Amino acid sequence: SAMAGDVREAVQRRLRMFGPDTVLFYDEPLRIERAEGVWIHDASGRAYLDLYNNVPSVGHAHPRVVEAIRQQVGRLNIHTRYLVDVVDAYAERLLATYPDEIDRLVLTCTGSEANDLALRIAQAATGGTGIVVTRTAYHGNTAAVTEVSPSSRRGHALAPHVRAVPPPDSFRAPDGDVGERFAAIVAAAASDLEQNGIRFAALLVDTVFSSDGVYADPPGFLRAAIDQVRARGGVFIADEVQPGFGRLGEGLWGFARHGVAPDIVTMGKPMGNGFPMGGVAVRAPLLERFTAQMRYFNTFGGNPVAAAAGLAVLDTIREEGLIANAGAVGAYLMDGLREIGNRHMAIGDVRGAGLFIGLELVADRETKEPAPDLAGRLINRLRERGVLVGAAGPYGSTLKIRPPLCFSRANADLFIGACDEALRELAAT
Ligand code: PMP
Repeated sequence: SAMAGDVREAVQRRLRMFGPDTVLFYDEPLRIERAEGVWIHDASGRAYLDLYNNVPSVGHAHPRVVEAIRQQVGRLNIHTRYLVDVVDAYAERLLATYPDEIDRLVLTCTGSEANDLALRIAQAATGGTGIVVTRTAYHGNTAAVTEVSPSSRRGHALAPHVRAVPPPDSFRAPDGDVGERFAAIVAAAASDLEQNGIRFAALLVDTVFSSDGVYADPPGFLRAAIDQVRARGGVFIADEVQPGFGRLGEGLWGFARHGVAPDIVTMGKPMGNGFPMGGVAVRAPLLERFTAQMRYFNTFGGNPVAAAAGLAVLDTIREEGLIANAGAVGAYLMDGLREIGNRHMAIGDVRGAGLFIGLELVADRETKEPAPDLAGRLINRLRERGVLVGAAGPYGSTLKIRPPLCFSRANADLFIGACDEALRELAAT
């Protein structure tokens, strides 16, 4: 469809101010005004089913979170140098969700700040600087974190202290044990750092490997790699910015799927359901080695409004049974997508956990040749049909399915039907 004149003008206005690198989704960008639950509404009042946004994870404009923010911002909001009960109540609630040995918290405003601090803690705790990440990882936007985010680097060589390894890919390299193979790759990267005179400090991974294309199976596969990390004097940093807060449908944290307790955990995105918050949860002895060397202060991290939002998010996850819902509806959705995969040869793989699902499109099921163009066309077709979804992975051939956790079976049916029809249309063109 030709882009409506008012949308074209809005796009031009955006580009004029923010420049040509402005990222706008879709051939015809969406001009949106409000949202609730799993629905986003555009300026004309049309509703779109949201399978992309894992920030408003308990649902867009959730009344409980909105009310908690409204009340707290009207009562008190201030920097972090006073005792304010809601802040300590939140910290207690959050730390109680972690294994016992993870017993300290630093609150930040973004996931990037959390990862930046995690790197500094790891480096202070180990005396090393070497970091191992996965090949298409994204961990944030500060200078230090961009160095460990290969997906941001537009082909620039990695910094000398960084090694980017292939992800634990269960689709393209399915032979043998995923965990043993990943452990060997991580160990080799750590050895390579050491051989180049760089002391190994940490393995930093997103525990569901979102940007790499979504890898969740088999549960426990991370354990062997973490053993290798610790045997080499390094620490394990679990980036929970994407999988955290219940999305994987079992417990709050992605690392729990692997039966491990990280040394450092970073959080962000869904933590305040859209109110900016992030954090680092860490073992006290590691944090102490960092604070012995360096002061850390964050004006807005853990402010009272953020704490109120964070508490409302934890309450909502518990009271609405959102973790169980993510598990049940996620399994239902994966079954449905596999079922239409019987008719559509372009569906090469459906994988994930809970409401974090990757649907990988291929040009050929035998060779598994990725089909990024088809993924792009499918995403735009779905948008025309009122369904919003994005892509991930090294080729951009994997649909990244990540709806709010209140997603229902009826919502899943709508998405599956839209995929089925859109793929049929695309196969006919
Ligand atoms: N880690 C991961 C895995 C992320 O996906 C992101 C954001 N896309 C970040 C960290 C950075 O978080 P923020 O954008 O809040 O700084």
